[in-house]
Formats: sequence, C-alpha cells, structure tokens
Amino acid sequence: MVDNLEISLEELKDICNVYLIDKLLGKIRDCRDHFLNKRVTIRCRDKISPIVEVGGHRVIINNLGKEDFSYMCDDKCADYLYQVKRGSTPFCKHYAAAIAQLIYEKEVSPKDKINYMEGQVLEELLAVVNQRKRDEGEEITHRDIEGDLEKLNTDFLDIARQNRTIAREKYHDEPENVFEDLVNRAFLLLDFDTIP
Ligand SMILES: [Zn+2]
Repeated sequence: MVDNLEISLEELKDICNVYLIDKLLGKIRDCRDHFLNKRVTIRCRDKISPIVEVGGHRVIINNLGKEDFSYMCDDKCADYLYQVKRGSTPFCKHYAAAIAQLIYEKEVSPKDKINYMEGQVLEELLAVVNQRKRDEGEEITHRDIEGDLEKLNTDFLDIARQNRTIAREKYHDEPENVFEDLVNRAFLLLDFDTIP
C-alpha cells in the first residue's frame, strides 16, 4: 500500500494498529457472556501452563507470559480455526475468557506479562473482571479497613471530580463505577449495610 499511496509506512502501521486493537476489543466483549455467566472453569492450576474450560471449549495455554508462548483452542472454535490459525487475530474469545478467569481467581496477576493483553485491551478485560466482582459483591465480604481508608483519603475527591486518569490507572474502571464503589466502602466503614 505504501508504494501506491501518499502515506508513510509509520502512518500505515498506525492505521493497522488501530484496526487490530479494535478487533481484540471485540474479542474481549465477546468473552463477557462466558465469563460473567460463570461458564469458565480452571482445569489445571499451573501458573505457566494452565488449562481452562470455557463453555465446552478447552483452552490449553503454554508458557504464559514467555517468549515461546502458545495456546490452543479446540476444533469447535471457528474463531481459532479461521482467524487465529490464519494469523488475522492473535486470540479467540475463549482465550480472553480464560485469562479473565485466571485473573479473577488470582492465578495470574494483571501486573505480570500476559501475552496479547496490554494497554487498552488489558484495561477492557480488567473492566470485565471488575464487573463480575461487583456483581458478586466481593467488595462487601472482603473488608480491608486500612486499605479503604487510604483509598478514600487519597483518591475520593479526584474520583468524585471524575478524574479518568486515576480511575483507570489505579482502579481499572470508569470514575462513575469507582465513585459508587468508594461511597459504598465509606458507608461500610461507618457500619452501615448499604445496598449498592
Ligand atoms: Zn476459541
């Protein structure tokens, strides 16, 4: 394309990158159904090479976070056969759901390197994980009084003023959602039972 268009290689790479990220964000959105409806089960708890079942599909991951990483989804996955294997996208929605479950069950930390999950794509995945936590009210059962006080003291005003940077960087979510969560924590600290 560069040979025939008045566009630099760099510009062209940027365009391709936007397209690729859009495609990956689509896979993350598609994984929500399986993950939020609890159709994901970790079959082998190995930090490097876990096996995860996603709605009847078996996702086998090898060397997670490493250079020689690979993963396999099964024959029934059209995404994997026609897109991942042909190289038009690096992962299918089942891989995204598997990673979401591994993060949710703390087998994998979002701070570690996770293949193909970075930047905007990782943020989108973490938002899905956070939604599940909110749905299950995990925040309410696991109370961390000192941690909550610290968060309220340092970030509450910024979050209330819809500071998107702090919300995304520290809480991996939209300020509106973080605000709701922090208010809930504040009430819990005062010993009120709140209904989110
Ligand atoms: Zn798949």
